[in-house]
Amino acid sequence: MSQFRLGYGEDIHRLVEGRKLILGGIEIPFEKGLLGHSDADCLLHALMDSLLGALALGDIGLYFPPDDPEYEGADSTKLLAKVKSLVDDSNYAISNVDLLLFAEQPKLKPYRESIRSNIANLLDLDISQVGFQAMSNEGLDAVGRGEAIRAVSTVLLERKENE
Ligand code: MG
Repeated sequence: MSQFRLGYGEDIHRLVEGRKLILGGIEIPFEKGLLGHSDADCLLHALMDSLLGALALGDIGLYFPPDDPEYEGADSTKLLAKVKSLVDDSNYAISNVDLLLFAEQPKLKPYRESIRSNIANLLDLDISQVGFQAMSNEGLDAVGRGEAIRAVSTVLLERKENE
């Protein structure tokens, strides 16, 4: 069995009026929010896909089908708890996660530490294991026009000792 497993996840959601903006499980004051079947937290969705990908367990659509009414308006932190339980049941532990958020508006740097500490808490990690970068998309494409927010996650899992 490999010592390490690498995971990568990506997600994008459309920004619309009349929705709350929730990123990394934190509600961020803004005049728009992300559109989606759940709370549309693209950062946690990318994170979940990177964890599932690292273990070759498929993707979040498999566990939380977008057409299942149970997940309408779902709190993505609860979905992350389910994915975390799959990691906990595996022979691997999270070594570190590195998260990127691309948004033209709002500026997300002020929320950097609250997002990092929330994700560390949700995954039972030390904050030093959670990297986070927020950046604009330099005015390019849908993210740059302020029509969407995109998130990227990479994760490294390390085999647990004695397993
Ligand atoms: Mg999503």
